[in-house]
Amino acid sequence: MSSLRLIPLGGLGEIGMNCLALEQRGEVLVVDCGVAFDERGLGVDVVHPDFAALEQYRVAGLFVTHGHEDHIGAIPYFLRRFDVPVYGSRYALGLVRERAAEHEILDYVELCEVPPRTVARVGSFHVEPIRVTHSIADATALAIRTDAGLAVHTGDFKFDESPPDGETFDVARFEELSREGVRVLLSDSTNVDASGPTGSEQGVGRTLDGIVGSAREAVVVALFASNVHRLRMLGEIARRHGRKIVPLGRSVVTHARVARATSLATGEEAGLSYLQWPSDLVWPAERAKELPRRALLGVATGTQGEEGAALARLAGGQHPAFCLAPGDVVVMSSRVIPGNEARVMRVIGDLLRRGVELRTWWSDRGVHVSGHAHRDDQRRMIELVTPRAFVPVHGTLHHLSRHAALARELGVPDVCVLENGDVAQVDGDGLRKTGRVHAGRVHVFARRTLPSSVLQERAALASRGAAHVVVRVDALGHPAGDVVLVTRGVVDGDVDAALLASARLEAHSAVEGLSAKAGYPGSGAAPPSDEDFAEAARQAIRRALGRVLGFKPVTTATVLRVER
Ligand SMILES: [Zn+2]
Ligand SMILES: [Zn+2]
Repeated sequence: MSSLRLIPLGGLGEIGMNCLALEQRGEVLVVDCGVAFDERGLGVDVVHPDFAALEQYRVAGLFVTHGHEDHIGAIPYFLRRFDVPVYGSRYALGLVRERAAEHEILDYVELCEVPPRTVARVGSFHVEPIRVTHSIADATALAIRTDAGLAVHTGDFKFDESPPDGETFDVARFEELSREGVRVLLSDSTNVDASGPTGSEQGVGRTLDGIVGSAREAVVVALFASNVHRLRMLGEIARRHGRKIVPLGRSVVTHARVARATSLATGEEAGLSYLQWPSDLVWPAERAKELPRRALLGVATGTQGEEGAALARLAGGQHPAFCLAPGDVVVMSSRVIPGNEARVMRVIGDLLRRGVELRTWWSDRGVHVSGHAHRDDQRRMIELVTPRAFVPVHGTLHHLSRHAALARELGVPDVCVLENGDVAQVDGDGLRKTGRVHAGRVHVFARRTLPSSVLQERAALASRGAAHVVVRVDALGHPAGDVVLVTRGVVDGDVDAALLASARLEAHSAVEGLSAKAGYPGSGAAPPSDEDFAEAARQAIRRALGRVLGFKPVTTATVLRVER
């Protein structure tokens, strides 16, 4: 019997870094290739899946469901190891193109646009994108014909009955596939805890229109710049109320450009447009002072309180071009992603101190809707597709487990919860876990991989600081001159001078003790080596500082041989 294996390398057991390999006959189709972020403050730019497990297969191609970072952000790193075509919708590939250009690999990337309801052959797989609605333009599910039957991957979705771009959810195609018989469904689990319908973008448009219409001064709306639907509605709102759109933040500018530039070959404007922001509607932030404040509608990035993003800089009064004033209205058209609460609250505090009027999801439910299906929509998807087997994707283990329970409740015969690195087989006998592969995380800093040893060092330095001791030893093995001790992030050198002095003394005695114990010269015992001296000094510093401070810094030592 023909079989198919599912090998998740990211996104299962976490939110972010989505990456799933489908394998049959030793050949692999990869669905999505995203990044996650590391919030430990260790200077990690992005985290991407470790692709090593795919080396043993022939990789036929990479198919993306839509253009969010957690689905496309790792593509440049993936392509370094696997030189294969990237398939997807036009807008998603437009964003991949931007990434490839940033990484200077644009000349080598093969981008293949696959419109919804058309089929692309990727090795032995036949893949058909199907239009779904989500918080980005051109989002798709994938119907994948495999040796084991039809697999449907929803991508990220919600059922939005009136999407602002008029590109409606292709429910009819899902119904057809369901009649044909779906072997396995993989579906977005993110919002399994949210009850009720997911809500429509048009409702957000109405709420934002009301807020902008009644504002007397400048309005700044903060959002995810990838939400082109919302950017488009803001353009219409600005025009209706005689305001100019002022882009605040690099990714607003990037997305506005990609949404206009739809030619994959050249990145230039090509007629079809996702975003109607004519040049007379957009006003550069640098020239904001030239217009009355009631004519400004700022669009800012940084809803998650990211340091250095436009919203945090506006709140802190550090934006180079745009200054918030009392009476301005700031709308946070977003919700807080779990884990970001403290950062967001700091930004909100700064905004309130500026005297602006703040409108958030807490005060005005209508300023945001999620792009991910609530529980009711997840149920509707399972009922629509009526699969024989179900694998929840896109969520922490909590989300996956609850989504799996929902599928069982709806009578799906085979339900399997997988985490990154699990291998599950789909065949005539059903769906079951059959093994594991290595599925690690690769941390990237300044485009280079950070080895885990370096990350551990960074974590230790961040939590305990560093000390370096230099001892000079003469030819007879006696300490010569003062011990030098340098610390970083350990003590205040002026306040704790006495502590540092006594630590230096202790290192000096340790070195002296070592040479005395060895009893050389002439004792016949091997004299201590430089390493012995360095280790004695290092341990002495750790002891001396640890005794008083209650922690031992990361400590290194150097021995210098001096001539007398
Ligand atoms: Zn996602
Ligand atoms: Zn998404």
